[in-house]
Parts: sequence; C-alpha cells; structure tokens
Amino acid sequence: MKQFMFEYNNAETFNNELMKFKDWCVKNSVSKMLFQVYSEILEEDIINNVCNVIEEVFPDTLYIGCSTSGNITDCQLSKDITVACMVFEFPSTQVNIYQYYLDSEVVDSITWKILEETRKNPWVKAIELFFTIPENSSTRFCDGLKEVRQDIQIFGGVACSDDITSDASCVFSKGGKYSGKSVVVVFYGGSDFYVDSINVTGWKPLGRKFHVTKSDGCILHELDGIPAYDVYHKYLNIQNDENFFYNTLEFPLFYEHNGTTILRTPVASNSDGSITMTSDMDIGSVVRISYGDPGTIIESIKEDSKRLYKFQPDLLHIFSCAARRTFWTSKEPTYEIYPFKDISPSSGFFSHGEFLRTKGNLNQHNVTLVIAGMREGKKEELPGPVLQTGEKVLSKVPLVSRLATFISVTSLELEEINNKLELANDKLKTAAIIDGLTGLYNRKEIQTQIEKKLNNASKGKFSVAMFDIDNFKQVNDTYGHQEGDTVIVALANILNNERAIYTERLSAGRWGGEEFMLLLNDTDVSGAALIADLIRQCFENTSFPSVRTQTVSIGVTQAREDDNIDTLCTRVDTALYKAKKTGKNKVVVI
Ligand code: GH3
Ligand code: MG
Ligand code: MG
Repeated sequence: MKQFMFEYNNAETFNNELMKFKDWCVKNSVSKMLFQVYSEILEEDIINNVCNVIEEVFPDTLYIGCSTSGNITDCQLSKDITVACMVFEFPSTQVNIYQYYLDSEVVDSITWKILEETRKNPWVKAIELFFTIPENSSTRFCDGLKEVRQDIQIFGGVACSDDITSDASCVFSKGGKYSGKSVVVVFYGGSDFYVDSINVTGWKPLGRKFHVTKSDGCILHELDGIPAYDVYHKYLNIQNDENFFYNTLEFPLFYEHNGTTILRTPVASNSDGSITMTSDMDIGSVVRISYGDPGTIIESIKEDSKRLYKFQPDLLHIFSCAARRTFWTSKEPTYEIYPFKDISPSSGFFSHGEFLRTKGNLNQHNVTLVIAGMREGKKEELPGPVLQTGEKVLSKVPLVSRLATFISVTSLELEEINNKLELANDKLKTAAIIDGLTGLYNRKEIQTQIEKKLNNASKGKFSVAMFDIDNFKQVNDTYGHQEGDTVIVALANILNNERAIYTERLSAGRWGGEEFMLLLNDTDVSGAALIADLIRQCFENTSFPSVRTQTVSIGVTQAREDDNIDTLCTRVDTALYKAKKTGKNKVVVI
C-alpha cells in the first residue's frame, strides 16, 4: 500500500498533478486506489470542483471526503484542501464505499445495511466512518454496529469545520453527493490486508467524582443533584458566556462507558443550567472533570507509537480531536503526533469526534486521538528500535500538571476518608441495634419494632413469643459462664434460622441474659404456638459438649386491638411464667 498526497489549489493545477500521477499509475499497473479529500473549506462548489477533477482523470476510482478543522499530512498540519490517495498493491485487497443520508433514512436502517454488507462480504476487516456532526448524538448509530463481526475494526471521525464551535460539516463520496447530514462508510479487507487501531487520550481525571443524576440524551441536566453548569462554575470558575465552549474544551468530562474510558466535551451551556454535550450521558454513570496532562499524553503516545511501529503499517489514518489542536497551540498543533511520523506516511484530519471500536463496542470519543494503521502483506523484520520522543516535555513537568496531581491525590484521600467514615457509620448504626453475643436484635430494637407494629394502623394480626432458658443458673454454676454463653448462642441460632426461613414474617431479639423475644407478623396465636413449639423441640434436641441438653420455656400471645407495649409484654411474660410454674420445657398460650 502506498500513499500519495496532493494539495488542491485550483482545478487546473490539481488536474495537472493528477495527470502526472495517472502516468505513474499506468507505468506501475496500479489497478486499485482510493482518494481521500480533506477540506477545511465547506463551500459545496469548491468541493464539487475537486471531485470533478478526480472523476475526469480517474473516472473509475473511488473517492471519499469530509470537511475538517485542519488536515493532517504525514503528521503535519496542511491547510485548505488536501487529497490523499491510497494505492493498493495486492490484488486480493478490496475496498467498497457507501454513503448513507441521515436526513432521508433512519439510523437503524443504515446500521442494518452496514451489518448486511459485512455479512455478505466475509473479506471485510475494517470499517472507516466519516460522519457529519450529528444533530443529537451518534449513540444509536454506534450501538447499532455492535453486531458487526467481532474481528472487524471500526474507526473514523466526525467531520468538522475551521470554526470548531460551528455545527456545519459535510461529507461526500463517489456515487454520493455533498451532504451536511450523512455518513460515508469505507469497507477495507482481503486476505493480504491487515489493520490495527489505537486511541490515545492522555487526559487525566481531576478531583472528585460526580454522579449523573439527570440527563436527557446529550443534554446533561444535573450532576449530584445540582445543575451541571454550576459544577463548571464552582470548580473551574467558568462563566456562562460565549467563551464557555473554549473554556471547557480543556476540561472535558471523563467517564466509563461500555467498559471504556470516554471523554465528553460540553458544547454549550443552556439557560436552565444544563449543558449540551457532544454525545449521550447515561444517568447513573460516574464522571469526573478531567484535564490534559502533557506528560501523560506524551507517555501514552510513546507506548502506542511502539505498538503501531511493531505492526509495521504501510500508512496511517489519523483522527485527532480539534480540541487537542487547541490544547497544543502553545507548541504546535500536531506536536503530539510527531512520534508517528517515522512509522509510515499518514493522512487524516482534526475532527469533531472520533470513532473507535474497543471490546466489541463502537464509541464516539471526544478530545481523543484515534489512529488506524493499515498494511498489505506480511510484516518484515523490524529495522531498529523505536524512536523515543517527548523527553523534553517530561524533563520539566509544568506547574499545572503538578497542581493537578496535588488536587487528584487530595480528592482521592478525601474520598477514602469519606468511604471509611461511611463504613464506620454503618457499623455504628448496626452496633446500635444488634446484640453483640448472638447477632440478633438487641432489646431496644425488638421493643421498638413491636411498638411500631402496635402503632401501625394496617398491622393485621400478629403475635409475640417470649423465651427463657430453663435452669440456666445451674449451667453457669456447674459448667462456667462460657458454656452458658454457648447455650445462649445455640438458641439464638435456632431463632435466627427460623427468621431466615420466614424472612419478613419473623423478627427475633435478645430480651436479656437468656431471654429472647420473637415478633411474628401476620400470625395468629395458634400459628405462633406452632412455631414456638418447633423451636422448643429443636433446642431440646441440641446437644452441648458438657451440659448435654437444655430446655426452654415459652410464653405466646396474640396482640389485641387495645394493646400497648406494656400490656402485651405483661401478658406474654405471664404466659412464660405459667410455663415455668407448670413444669418448664413447654409452650403456654394466653
Ligand atoms: P428458670 O428455669 O426459672 O428460668 O431458672 P434460671 O436458672 O434460668 O433462672 P433465671 O432465668 O433467673 O436465670 C438467669 C441467669 O442467666 C442469671 C445470670 O447469671 C445468667 N445470665 C444472664 N446473662 C448471661 C450471659 O450473657 N451469659 C451467661 N453465661 N449467663 C447469663
Ligand atoms: Mg431468665
Ligand atoms: Mg431461665
């Protein structure tokens, strides 16, 4: 695969250049090519002129194109209109292009057609997308391509214009037409065609996390219950004015989506405090404000350029967010892509959004650099080690980077402290209602529950049962306190198992020493007596190391309409007293 670059100044010079190129093609028996037109200029007439020249000189050759916020040629910025030509050298390589119109066709039917195309053509290995700036968001389109065969890589960019705040953009193609609402799709593949795609952000989360509490598609209403704009105002002092877009560009939102980290830039702040984002923001997702850290960016670039270098692409297609261009302007707009310069020829553009499929899901990114490497034929021996770049930036970390690290670390520390506090609070709350020895509710809690039940207008019938272990003093006196505790815990476990079986219906608490109280919801006195007797039998049949067996006496009563906690407890206590007086190890009902 080879790449040839042309600059379009006017139809005549372009025509001359293409004619010369055509001679070369004839000499070298070139049969398959694809032109890519990148244009900072949006005027339909001018773009049609470019297309007409290509059609005249190469009537059978495919071409595609889009508007840009700057063209990239061999990792350098090129102005106005740039035309790249991919020349395919292997007869097995195949390329198809399609243009779908978003104003005349629904998204689902477009994604369905793309899916069909990949099903029909098993040779497809990569899909490249050129999208015009979506009216709402491209989420539905991206989700629609989930079903595309897993081994097919998908990448591309959203067309842009010189003015990155403008929503004007266009795409066009051979067989298609200049359109402001359209997607151009290129299918690449064949047995000798190889592709590898990467994305680089280098943006780092800054400070505390926020939950998306209210959103509607790409309108982000609230973060942690406060208007989304207020977050930008409070934490970054960004005003709600015409510069909002530029000011927030360096501080996009960072969040996990489809298991991938995505950056989303605010496009505009609205009068109701909401923010329009470049794509959908799901309710419930966690976001953080992020910022571009030059050191991290250069580090990621180094790693990824090594990966692409090893892949040995014949050429690279670069989709870099226009926001990154703004970010690096103090240096050079293409500063961060220099390391890719020595890998292979490249073409691409500064985009409004970047597409990349990762882990099977296609995502539209922002503030991201997506690079696709393409190759025909097998790899050759690596000529040498990868060029190291970016050392200069790293040797002196900018103050802003150090401050950002400081903020991130302090926020993380605060988050950790908060988590610990929450945990401690939960433990305290639990400790306040749970009995330490048995794990059942303590007296205060079970009493509160019974009182609540008594006061509940729709309480229905319910009963209580009071348990007191028989001759317990003897256990303590003969075998010691520890054995006594074992017996108490054993009865508690039986009660707990019953509670687990009946879940909502039963509530068990330790009333005192070896006394327990059971609250039986929706249970009349006969049902309660039945359960109480099952527990009594179960306890009677439990054997202990020293004391062997123990028994328990139980009083049971059903709550009456005019009961209060005192009358109810007195009655169940009387029942228990009767059980003790009449021989113990029994259930007495009042
Ligand atoms: P009765 O059959 O009439 O209930 O006789 P009893 O010996 O069980 O009498 P009583 O219920 O009055 O005895 C309660 C004893 O329980 C007194 C106390 O020493 C003991 N006790 C109270 N709390 C605990 C505890 O947490 N662990 C142990 N091992 N013993 C306790
Ligand atoms: Mg007792
Ligand atoms: Mg007792």
